Amino acid sequence: MNLELENHGEISARIKGKKLRPVCGDYVIAEPIQNEPEWLITSICPRDNELTRPDSRGRKEVLAANLDCVVVMAAAEPKPDWFVVDRYLAAAEIMGAEGVVVFNKIDLDAPTEDAQPVLEEYAHAGYRVLQCSAETGANMEKLPDHLEGKTAIIVGQSGVGKSSVINYLILEADQRTGELSDSSGEGKHTTVNSVMWNLPNGGTVIDSPGVRDYAPVIDSAQDVDRGFREIFELGPQCRFANCKHLREPNCAVKEAVENGGISARRYESYKRLVSTSQKLANQFG
Ligand code: GDP
Ligand code: ZN
Repeated sequence: MNLELENHGEISARIKGKKLRPVCGDYVIAEPIQNEPEWLITSICPRDNELTRPDSRGRKEVLAANLDCVVVMAAAEPKPDWFVVDRYLAAAEIMGAEGVVVFNKIDLDAPTEDAQPVLEEYAHAGYRVLQCSAETGANMEKLPDHLEGKTAIIVGQSGVGKSSVINYLILEADQRTGELSDSSGEGKHTTVNSVMWNLPNGGTVIDSPGVRDYAPVIDSAQDVDRGFREIFELGPQCRFANCKHLREPNCAVKEAVENGGISARRYESYKRLVSTSQKLANQFG
């Protein structure tokens, strides 16, 4: 793996031992190896936060660390899976990073109007929402403002244009972008390894492998409400202090869903994530 030194030089490094698993965004201790061009990573500095998902065995896999910002991308094409967007935003919220929603490919004739009410929901909940086109450059100048001086990861379904956006931000990055393939609308090319890019104006973006079925690892189902800021805010107004906002009486959240203060779609996402997290907790304790 590649390592950036304090003086901004870049070197290739090996990892000492099998247990050490550095990820993009990590700060590490490393030393030169005598008579070799490579350095040796000997330890990982404590992390401020981690973006995680369960691996195929349900164990926690860390995608990136020390993030200020999680840029969640969706696009006019492939058809947005808003549940995935909600889960990434929940992960950002719980790990203490800022979630930003970017809706790409506004140049397409695809039915972007379906997306508008959902994007308004995110803005209403307090998220920064940017609609842009990496193809025509529309609104692209606004993206660096969101990222300046920060460590950000760009996530979202495969094919939404993550590589294209990074390309646009860093012309010399020379990322290969994939063609959209066949009827599924899924991108053909998926970036396998995460890569970190320095932005011209300061700040870094991490490219992430397209993860279709993303679910954050949430240590307890009780914590899921922290992932939905508009739900979390209302929690103190519920009758029970430990209200899960599911079947409890006098629940301020359910009342807000009924009178339109909280989006029914976001509440549905919340319930789905509670149930996923409970299943994971039961399986892997
Ligand atoms: P990734 O899988 O999220 O990294 O997506 P890519 O950056 O590889 O883009 C997938 C496809 O969408 C490529 O064919 C891009 O050329 C195309 N694409 C990316 N951004 C835009 C855009 O704003 N408008 C249009 N029309 N196509 C785009
Ligand atoms: Zn409640």
